Amino acid sequence: MRKPIVAGNWKMHFTADEAASLADQIRMELIDVSDVCDVVLCPTLTSLSSVKSVVDGTNIGLGAQNMHWEESGAYTGDVSAEMILTSGCQYVILGHSERRQYAFESDADVKRKAIAALNSGLTPIICVGERLEQREAGQVEEIVIGQVAVAVENIDKAELSRVVIAYEPVWAIGTGRTATASQAEEVHALIREFFVNHAGVGVAEQIRLQYGGSVKSENAEELFSQKNIDGGLIGGAALQVDSFVDIVKAAI
Ligand code: PEP
Repeated sequence: MRKPIVAGNWKMHFTADEAASLADQIRMELIDVSDVCDVVLCPTLTSLSSVKSVVDGTNIGLGAQNMHWEESGAYTGDVSAEMILTSGCQYVILGHSERRQYAFESDADVKRKAIAALNSGLTPIICVGERLEQREAGQVEEIVIGQVAVAVENIDKAELSRVVIAYEPVWAIGTGRTATASQAEEVHALIREFFVNHAGVGVAEQIRLQYGGSVKSENAEELFSQKNIDGGLIGGAALQVDSFVDIVKAAI
């Protein structure tokens, strides 16, 4: 039985104080549920420390939204896995579609980052998903499984069960247009099948697959009740206490 995992991606929202205040309200609401569901807050880098001071000693995890694959060096504006880890994170989001779109991140970049994250002890949440025109052209499997395959190509099979994959159809992110539960489950089942072929059924059954893309309190329960959907990566609805808490409760 896989433990569900719900992560809030706060993107470029909130100052450090605002982030700590939201984290504190979430912490108070979720004190009872975090044993049965992994809850992760992913603020901006500048808010990691203030949010850490709120979630320290609780079951709520902390994640960053990106990292570089190198350990150190002349990479202005970037941070390494070790830097994130020592800032209190256990998780890092990799390959989010906004990074792919605005920072031109490639599958090969995501692959390097995933290895660096795992080597440092971080759990990578690897985002994959097709664009609308790719869905309309019937390329969902090719695109999504292609992205997953490259991202995990160099990961040791023994390490794979630590990886979290977030299936986020790009056309559903921040648009209010959610994939139906059956559309989402169909792709999640393909991802699971890929892992069965890649690493065997034992490993594949342990890997957690999140859905992301306009998840709200109203649709979370149906999405999360699908066989291969083990929680969600939440953007807009993670910015308010009530909606995020309701979504977490829908996962348990
Ligand atoms: C996201 O950014 O990962 C996301 C899923 O956003 P939203 O929930 O707003 O669609």
